Amino acid sequence: MNVSNITKCPLCGANGSDLREVTSTHVDGYTIRCFHCGTFAITDECIRSCEEKLEEIGYILSGINLELNSINNQYLELKSDSLEKILKDYEYLVPNSDNLEEKVEKLLKFLRKETTYFTQKLSSKIERFIPIAYAQNSNELRGLFDWMKEKNLVEWGYTNQGKDIGTSLLHDGWELANKIKKGRGGFDKVFIAAWSDQSTTEIIDAIKEVVKKLGFQAIWIPGDFFSQQIVDKALGEIRQSRFVIVDQTGLRQSVFFEAGFAYGLDIDMIYIHKKQEEKFKYEFYTGHYQSHEYEDVEHLKIILESAINVRIPMKK
Ligand SMILES: [Zn+2]
Repeated sequence: MNVSNITKCPLCGANGSDLREVTSTHVDGYTIRCFHCGTFAITDECIRSCEEKLEEIGYILSGINLELNSINNQYLELKSDSLEKILKDYEYLVPNSDNLEEKVEKLLKFLRKETTYFTQKLSSKIERFIPIAYAQNSNELRGLFDWMKEKNLVEWGYTNQGKDIGTSLLHDGWELANKIKKGRGGFDKVFIAAWSDQSTTEIIDAIKEVVKKLGFQAIWIPGDFFSQQIVDKALGEIRQSRFVIVDQTGLRQSVFFEAGFAYGLDIDMIYIHKKQEEKFKYEFYTGHYQSHEYEDVEHLKIILESAINVRIPMKK
């Protein structure tokens, strides 16, 4: 195999010194070490027959590969018939293309990993940031940095005659990045753990209204836990939530299950419960958290709004 045939990275197009190393492997192909995409393997056949496809999805494969490299040095093995399977297998890593925030989370996570102290400045080539954010090109990357700046998450600017980006995390960005690092993401989703039946519709609607008013997206999965599918969906949503609102009224098992799961992930929680008549009074156990008591729907809206304002540092 003539190694010098490969003059640019098949994923990102990097050439020259950015294409660090190409070695032929025992399987019919190469191991490529690219400054932007990390180390991956690709068959000769894939390079020849998938050019168009790689043009289209190269930035996604590059992002996946970088993440794999950072987890126990795993890497992608690209063959023409494995590309679709790779996209499917690693779908959970790839930010939704219409969700800016998921891409920003990837950048924040990277910036936090690469810095050891708050305000530390990091400079790197633009092309190196692109796959980290799963950005399609430098324009999208600029947009993501502008957005983070607008939200007071980072400062940034071009350096080295516009070839590099210099950036540092600001206070809100540092805090958020620490939370993302701990395995919980989510900028704006708020999971509502509450008992549902006809009598609680108004309560749920009121919680949703407050959450929405404060710029968050309310996630509410109706029904008790009847199926594994619902459990999985709920836990998945909690994992991605900025915080969880737990209405303990009714002392339902599923509500405590969700609360315990969120607690284990170190997700902020706001506990509320409806004031009970004396004969139904019971103790609410929330550890060191306060459970906010509400009398009716209107009262709930007021106390919930103030509790979120106090407890959740970064709102939109
Ligand atoms: Zn590359």
